Amino acid sequence: MDRSARLMERAVKRLPGGVNSPVRAFRSVGGDPLFMSRGEGSRVFDADGNSYIDYVMSYGPLVLGHAHPEVVRVLEETIKGGTTFGAPTELEVEMAELVCDVVPSMETVRMTNSGTEATMSAIRVARGFTGRDKILKFDGNYHGHGDALLVSAGSGVATLGLPDSPGVTRGAAKDTTVLPYNDLASVRALFEERGEEFAAVILEPVGGNMGCVPPDGGYLEGLREITREYGTVLIFDEVMTGFRLARGGAQERFGVTPDMTCLGKIIGGGLPVGAFGGKREIMEMVAPSGPIYQAGTLSGNPLAMAAGLATVRATGEPGFYEGLERLGARWRTGMSEAASAGERPFTINGVGSMVSIFFADGPVTDFGSAARSDTKAFKDFFWHMLRRGIYLAPSQYEAGFISRVHSDEDLDRTFEAAREWFVAAGKG
Ligand SMILES: *Cc1c(COP(=O)(O)O)cnc(C)c1O
Repeated sequence: MDRSARLMERAVKRLPGGVNSPVRAFRSVGGDPLFMSRGEGSRVFDADGNSYIDYVMSYGPLVLGHAHPEVVRVLEETIKGGTTFGAPTELEVEMAELVCDVVPSMETVRMTNSGTEATMSAIRVARGFTGRDKILKFDGNYHGHGDALLVSAGSGVATLGLPDSPGVTRGAAKDTTVLPYNDLASVRALFEERGEEFAAVILEPVGGNMGCVPPDGGYLEGLREITREYGTVLIFDEVMTGFRLARGGAQERFGVTPDMTCLGKIIGGGLPVGAFGGKREIMEMVAPSGPIYQAGTLSGNPLAMAAGLATVRATGEPGFYEGLERLGARWRTGMSEAASAGERPFTINGVGSMVSIFFADGPVTDFGSAARSDTKAFKDFFWHMLRRGIYLAPSQYEAGFISRVHSDEDLDRTFEAAREWFVAAGKG
């Protein structure tokens, strides 16, 4: 028995399902998860010493790859001076300045310890600011596991086939309305009827938690227009897309500026972080400058700020995003060619360095079309790729992430392995 399997045997006795976050458990592909021991650049090494080209990248944060030398260096330097003070530090000011400089919608920002906290808090602030209760979210968009947002919430929930989570009260969910993604007409119809009741519209400007699903042309602009008309706070959840699709996130890339933005993942450089921010008049409502309470013992933690700053600064190097774009485009072309060698239906989606291969005829534009995927085919493909040394997320409904340090050779090996599967799989 290998080490990962032995560790899982121990883990399931003391951790629910053996893991600290559900999608790690390999439930939707069957079998036991790999326990990882270390990472280096585009590679991750399991507890048995096997090496993989990693497209999980911790589900998004590692845009510089594993153990980037500068991130490691600043962490070593920072830790010597203590790990937390419960008092403000210069690193937090630097992070706030940098984020507000580059993210178009952010005039001020509050740091949190996770993306979940960021979205929960942003919703509270939008409600406090507008004096309204209702929020609108979209089917297949994931905004962390806060009660009000854990409705039709994409990958983790979809993978496990839980429509809603027990423990979320009807009260917590009753003010949440869910509409299909990329369907502007349904939003317009809802708002014409009762737009004045909505405190916020929250969305992933590029869907990343039902596989990668880009916004249709005009969708983000349309939501901006409707929310402005009804005085509703438009929240872009850029926990995944922030500093990934452009330095200023999807809002820079698509030229649509929301009222509030949630960040996480990359701005923590691999440490636990989230952030929410936006227009000054809204954010001034947050305690202690205003009455809306939000707090955190470890928020703005020095280690998290140091790792995040090193990461975010590296993304400012000339050519950084051009490099990511090139790799993402090459992945899509290469995978498309590889898959075309076989007879299985497939659809490649992606924006920049976010990528997906759906085992379904396209186009995949919302959760309904993503859910038509042949998840049995995905499962078989997943294990084939793993045996070939390619680590994909263990779910059809997770996006893949390419880091700045993935090489052309990494991609070529990935295409070769994929082609093998598609050729051997026949019509199915
Ligand atoms: C990952 C993610 C979150 C939740 O962040 P956590 O740090 O896991 O709490 C929220 N929104 C989106 C879009 C995400 O991808």
